[in-house]
Amino acid sequence: MLGWALVLTSIYLVAEVIGGLVFNSLALLSDAAHMMTDVAALVIALMAIRLGGKSPDDKRTFGYRRFEILAAAFNAVLLFGIAIYIFVEAIKRFTAPQEVQSWGMMIVAGIGLVVNLISMRLLTAGKDASFNVSAYLEVWADMIGSIGVILGALAIRFTGFTWIDPIVAVAIGLWVLPRTWVLLRDTTNVLLEGVPGGLKLGEVRAAIGGVPGVAGLHDLHVWSMSNDDVSCAMHVVLREGANVGETRSAVQAMLRSQYEIEHSTIQTEGSDQPCEDDEHLHR
Ligand SMILES: [Zn+2]
Repeated sequence: MLGWALVLTSIYLVAEVIGGLVFNSLALLSDAAHMMTDVAALVIALMAIRLGGKSPDDKRTFGYRRFEILAAAFNAVLLFGIAIYIFVEAIKRFTAPQEVQSWGMMIVAGIGLVVNLISMRLLTAGKDASFNVSAYLEVWADMIGSIGVILGALAIRFTGFTWIDPIVAVAIGLWVLPRTWVLLRDTTNVLLEGVPGGLKLGEVRAAIGGVPGVAGLHDLHVWSMSNDDVSCAMHVVLREGANVGETRSAVQAMLRSQYEIEHSTIQTEGSDQPCEDDEHLHR
């Protein structure tokens, strides 16, 4: 069902771009860019399910889980490019209004509305619910875009003010951009091995320090492979007489229960035999 919604939306996306060029409507092009966000998000999600599930091999020991992040970042950059084009073009058209064929604009956007309605039916008929709920909300958002273009076309029809077209285009663009920005920020954070959102490193550090047997820690790294699986690595300095295995298990159990960190790598050191790692990593 998701596949069919995707095929239908993709065909319409192409039609909308052609319609936007033929009828000279920037609003249609902007709405097409908005549609593309959702099509790309669905494609990436589907590819991530296929590729992300591939097991690691001797060449890629982490498997392909980052593929989703890489594709999403690429998508966000592409959308920023399109948004800049639309804004520049809108300014040009606003200062020098161009002829817009409002009937064509209305028909294309009307078809878009029908496509959205069919997609919504397809998605509600599907089985995998959690994934579909977000897709369903996206279709709602798409419908608002289509309705915006239809209203814009009607307004042009009755007033003759063709500058309404670039205004609708910018409105749709301004509506999509914050989401694109969040996508770019989050994916960049994952690619930079940043601490996942919602985790406070100071708290994690203090919690590890509070585990019995731990005298100190350094070289603490917390990152996520893709969106949800968090990993961490650290050097733990043991207290005098602390049991190595017990302390390590206690740290791991605490990280799992309190911070949902499933995978932790811990190097244990005695305070009399510290490691000789680079100074700058010793944090
Ligand atoms: Zn160390």
